[in-house]
Amino acid sequence: MKPLFLILVYLGVVALPLVLSFLTGGPSRPVYQELASGLGILAFSMILAEFVLSGRFRKISHGVGMDVTMRFHQIMARTALIFALLHPFLYRATPSGGPRPWDPTGQLTLTTDIADLSSGIAAFLILPSLVFLAIGRTKLDHKYEVWRLMHGIGAVLIALLLLHHATHAGRYGSLPVMSWIWLVMTGLAVGSLFYVYLIVPFQGRRQAWRVASVTRLTPKQWELTLAPDAHSGLAYKAGQFVWLTVGHSPFSINEHPFSICSAPSGGPEVSFMIKELGDFTRGVGDIKPGTIAYLDGPYGSLAIEGRTEPGVALIAGGVGLAPLLGILRQMRLTGDPRKLRLVYGNRKADQIAFRDELGVADVTYVLSEPPEGWTGETGFIDGALLDRVFAPQEFKDWLFVVCGPTVMMDIVETHLIKRGTPADRILSERFDYD
Ligand SMILES: Cc1cc2nc3c(=O)[nH]c(=O)nc-3n(C[C@H](O)[C@H](O)[C@H](O)COP(=O)(O)OP(=O)(O)OC[C@H]3O[C@@H](n4cnc5c(N)ncnc54)[C@H](O)[C@@H]3O)c2cc1C
Repeated sequence: MKPLFLILVYLGVVALPLVLSFLTGGPSRPVYQELASGLGILAFSMILAEFVLSGRFRKISHGVGMDVTMRFHQIMARTALIFALLHPFLYRATPSGGPRPWDPTGQLTLTTDIADLSSGIAAFLILPSLVFLAIGRTKLDHKYEVWRLMHGIGAVLIALLLLHHATHAGRYGSLPVMSWIWLVMTGLAVGSLFYVYLIVPFQGRRQAWRVASVTRLTPKQWELTLAPDAHSGLAYKAGQFVWLTVGHSPFSINEHPFSICSAPSGGPEVSFMIKELGDFTRGVGDIKPGTIAYLDGPYGSLAIEGRTEPGVALIAGGVGLAPLLGILRQMRLTGDPRKLRLVYGNRKADQIAFRDELGVADVTYVLSEPPEGWTGETGFIDGALLDRVFAPQEFKDWLFVVCGPTVMMDIVETHLIKRGTPADRILSERFDYD
């Protein structure tokens, strides 16, 4: 799906309860009261939409990329938090208490029913914790998987609390039609989580993989190759990624996203280039051949299939080579007639992976800490380097595929735009979306 269409769908879904609430009518109220209700309604629908912005739905992340999906998820969560925090304070000077004769619909009075309010108060307290823990999670001293589990449980809890609050204390939400709409929307949101973490792994159970080999590529990078266990393999496009689980059940929370560095035309085995970073990646070297593995995917929008540009430029920093290697391999295996050039940056010479396979013909190696006698490029992949490697017309006509550290990607993307590369000719994938 195209980005503009996705944005329109998002706006439509998020605005739906708001529009329907106001269409249900009711007695007229001061503007700030309507604003309070409106912000509460918007916050709730935005929180529900967050469930499907988790990067696990191909129809969404294929259109814009998982990194963009996750960034949107983060920004919308923070916006919903602001709306939710403002919501109770805008009901200033509103009469509260039990039923009043002059308010038969109950829409002009704030309820003081503690059961109805307590669910809203609990959500009001949990929501900031969830958002702030997500923002500061890298500084917390616990495993990423634990944080992810807590994040999911917290999100379900908030959705259920808000459902209770909206349908019991909400002036609009307690109307039968709106109660049903909230119930269906909450069901779909929470159901999407169960779909991703129960139904998809259940289906994946039948498609087990076995570790075929683990090879050290550089001091801190490994190649992990999996072979299908009694099935025909994975239908993917070069440059895509999967969620990988090794040595655990497919229902395990120990799954990690990795780009496939093998090419679809290379056979049914799939390979990953993995850099040591945390607890899972540091243990890759100890994985024994034959270990069971599961894949959820493919995901990602780095594919160059169907593109008509005359040349493909691959710009990689460090382990960002992984998806680009898949593309390069596929192009070489299929005898792709398009021109191909790879720019591959590292800090030191011993960090260069697959040097023999990559060769020198289409590759510009860049080292920021070159050894004596180094004849390749030195420094970082920046605008000046790109200007040395690509001709002005190539910037305008070629397809650029970029993957690497955030700082490198920011510099490269900015420079490409400056040199006239249209935005739709820049494909990029970020491994870190914080
Ligand atoms: C689309 C995508 C493709 C990637 N491809 C590659 C690749 O080809 N090669 C490679 O070496 N690395 C890749 N990564 C990064 C890789 O996923 C992390 O380095 C790895 O998950 C770290 O796990 P850990 O347990 O070793 O470290 P941890 O210390 O647990 O995590 C370090 C950081 O990695 C990220 N991370 C960890 N687990 C997950 C998870 N389940 N989901 C999302 N992010 C997570 C988080 O930002 C976390 O802060 C990719 C990441 C993404 C998002």
